[in-house]
Amino acid sequence: MSNVLEIIPLGGIGEFGMNCMAVRYEDEMIILDAGMGFPEETSFGVDVSIPNFDFLEEYRENITAVILTHGHEDHLGALPYLLKKFNVPVYCSHFTAGLAESKLDEHDLLDDILLHRVEPRDQIQLGVFSIEFIRVSHSLVDCFSLAIGTPVGTIIHTGDYKVDETPVIGEPIDLRSFRRYGQEGVLALLSDSTNATVPGRTPSERAVIPAFEEIFAEAGGRIIVAAFASSIHRLQIVLDVAQQFNRKVCVLGRSMQKNVEIADRLGYLDIPDGLLVSLNDTKQMRDQDVVYLVTGSQGESRAALSQMATQMYKGVTIEEGDTVVLSARIIPGNERTISRMIGFIYKRGANIIEEKRRLIHVSGHASQEDIRIMTEAVRPKFVVPIHGEYRMLFRHKEFVKNHLGYAEENIILIENGDVLELDGERAAVVNKKEIGRTFIDESGFEEIKRDTVRERRQLANDGMIAMVITINDTGELQSPPEIVARGVKSCGPENGFAEAAHRIITSALTWASRDTLSDDSLLKEHIRVELKRYIQKRTGGRPVITPVIIRV
Ligand SMILES: [Zn+2]
Repeated sequence: MSNVLEIIPLGGIGEFGMNCMAVRYEDEMIILDAGMGFPEETSFGVDVSIPNFDFLEEYRENITAVILTHGHEDHLGALPYLLKKFNVPVYCSHFTAGLAESKLDEHDLLDDILLHRVEPRDQIQLGVFSIEFIRVSHSLVDCFSLAIGTPVGTIIHTGDYKVDETPVIGEPIDLRSFRRYGQEGVLALLSDSTNATVPGRTPSERAVIPAFEEIFAEAGGRIIVAAFASSIHRLQIVLDVAQQFNRKVCVLGRSMQKNVEIADRLGYLDIPDGLLVSLNDTKQMRDQDVVYLVTGSQGESRAALSQMATQMYKGVTIEEGDTVVLSARIIPGNERTISRMIGFIYKRGANIIEEKRRLIHVSGHASQEDIRIMTEAVRPKFVVPIHGEYRMLFRHKEFVKNHLGYAEENIILIENGDVLELDGERAAVVNKKEIGRTFIDESGFEEIKRDTVRERRQLANDGMIAMVITINDTGELQSPPEIVARGVKSCGPENGFAEAAHRIITSALTWASRDTLSDDSLLKEHIRVELKRYIQKRTGGRPVITPVIIRV
């Protein structure tokens, strides 16, 4: 159908992370954000997930650009994987570009990709789409909302935002530009729902300063602050308060060191000369003169904080008298790992300060009253909640309906893969694309096939059986099969499994056709199926069964 705009989320709707969206008009398509997601605790070697980009193949010739709202992993992490499939120009802010460059470099893509840096209020034209970048506040710096001019009307995509009039770094959110669009008329507002269940306003990034000052004033020993490496405002606060209390700062953890380096080089962090010290320097210093700024607020076992708590970090461990500040929220799903790490820190005799006890963390996302400010500034015809689990999208809808007077039919809840069609008058989901996720093993930046993950899950749940079957030319067993079972229930010697398997294999060989007998892969499959049937019937388990055929 022509003369309609299509909005197709590939991720980020009804889930936390993996934000990515395609916007299409006739034969032109742009991609907004390319984020990664984080798998559940039992992940079978899957480090991260990314949207499955297969459905974009159909539009290969139509994709003109990727536009990034900001540099968080859940908006940028899948970029290298997307660009490997579709090499198109990228548009983003200076700071986002700094993070993107570092990521592309890890993937050896830096020389192949066209990265355009844009400023707030810049406008670009990409075919039928005109895009203005509007400055918003968030926990990261240099973040944008996008005002996208299309032939059917203007779409505003908020990215992640909150309304912060007093950010630590940079200018406040540019409400004037949102109001300007509101006056001109906006067709749809695609709006961050992450904090839509939270009443009131989200506090400014500055709100945590008093608590940090108190903690620094009270602490007699070393201070260890764990925060998200991307929370640039927070890092600046820690640097400032350290300076104020005459402490030096030692930055530990790969992503923390990387982000501090990038933010410093691009001029976002203001670091006084001599403030930063190396781990080696701290060995000569008194406890009360040091702050460690570290990764690992989510209890990640490989990150600095966990390693320091379990005496695995080379050169520094957490000791009695230390004060550990967890200046981050708990990402849903990480509760147990964080709790375990806090246990280790207590065992070391250190004091720990969590978000629940002091105002040491504020969210970067819009609460309900921030959503009100945004929606009233933009005054869109349609509100489309994005970024969040379904519960949050739903509460966003309820808030807009009950408190901002929007009619039910003007608030549209969509899901990943939905094709939302807008023609200027009407908005409706008309179609659904098959959209899944792709699993990634970060150690080699490789895709892990769905079958591989399924097999690993099967191995973990039901174990595996390997067997060596020696046969002669006529397909007769030459010796009892050698069987090794690992992690399989009820398949030990006491259950007579070896005898049963011997019997089943003999019978399978007897009944096998001549063709099957002469072909190793057919024969293996035949034996596998017979054994699988037996084991499943007897134990209910589905172990991975691997026969090996040896012909003598
Ligand atoms: Zn974000």
